Amino acid sequence: MKAIEIQDVRKRYRNLQALKGVSFSVERGEFFGLLGPNGAGKTTLISILAGLNRADSGQVRVHGHDVVGDYRLARRMLGVVPQELVFDPFFTVRETLRLQSGYFGLTRNDDWIDEIMANLDLTDKADANMRQLSGGMKRRVLVAQALVHRPPVIVLDEPTAGVDVELRQTLWKFISRLNREGHTIILTTHYLEEAEALCDRIAMLKFGEVVALDRTSSLLSQFAGLQLVLTLSAGRLPASLEPLRMPSNPGERAIRLRLSGYQVVEPILAACREAGCEIEDMEINKADLEDVFVQIMGREGRKPASGDPGAGEGADGQGKGDGGKRATDPAEPVNTTPSSLESPV
Ligand code: ATP
Repeated sequence: MKAIEIQDVRKRYRNLQALKGVSFSVERGEFFGLLGPNGAGKTTLISILAGLNRADSGQVRVHGHDVVGDYRLARRMLGVVPQELVFDPFFTVRETLRLQSGYFGLTRNDDWIDEIMANLDLTDKADANMRQLSGGMKRRVLVAQALVHRPPVIVLDEPTAGVDVELRQTLWKFISRLNREGHTIILTTHYLEEAEALCDRIAMLKFGEVVALDRTSSLLSQFAGLQLVLTLSAGRLPASLEPLRMPSNPGERAIRLRLSGYQVVEPILAACREAGCEIEDMEINKADLEDVFVQIMGREGRKPASGDPGAGEGADGQGKGDGGKRATDPAEPVNTTPSSLESPV
């Protein structure tokens, strides 16, 4: 039995088709990443999974339990850390966690609550009132709340948005431990280096559709480990090298060439020299998940029709952390085939 099964899920908000037939499944014990630019539909999908929102059609099951027909059991299997900081200001941290345990009928849960607090560095805040906590501390409590009933599936919706390095490290250490102990983890994040380091498999959503779904290592290898980034001050790239060319980032003058290894750098430079090219700048990059993301989003991109999520807003809400590298123009030529991940050259 799968941890999560999502079959042809559709969701419309008035004139906005937020999910357009999303299907995928997550194996038990997987660390699964759900990535996509702002407005792609990640939170909508998670809300449907958690029973907080209803799909218009399609089926979602958690450990075999339908999230509508078998709501209670499906919900018990899940621990969801929401994106927004929601908390009750009248309780202390410990009271909040006891209350949450009560929702699941767990009256003697203090040993586990103590363990969770210790693992999230919350012990010295156990008796602090929720409203006295900093934003990062409140986020730790949200994570703790999701874990009180020891759910086999843990869903984290951007858990590290705006939190400091220390919390990230603490959180990932604990979540990785839970994953090693058999818990299934589903993570949405805009920090792609986190997804690359943690996730076994990744689904990428855009405009409510799955545009890529594969093992993290396959995604990385399909988009070449190495790139030669050349900026020419004179001449044009020789035609013989065009097959190696990869999509550039928007506004980028440099040419990106896929390298099968370091040994091909010399023949490439020789071909450029013979063609009269003058090289102004050159570097060799190792492609990371952000490069993969940018390329997939660019290639799968299209101008959203009115009613599509992302219409009227930047569809490339996710780019290189420094803001310098962004998803290619969503109005670029379309490849509408979902999950088409063939070589870009
Ligand atoms: P982000 O990365 O910004 O959190 P997301 O991938 O989680 O984005 P969703 O929050 O699922 O995206 O939103 C998908 C689309 O649906 C967006 O265009 C959003 O504006 C829209 N949307 C979400 N919730 C509602 C709602 N309750 N009513 C109307 N539109 C909504």
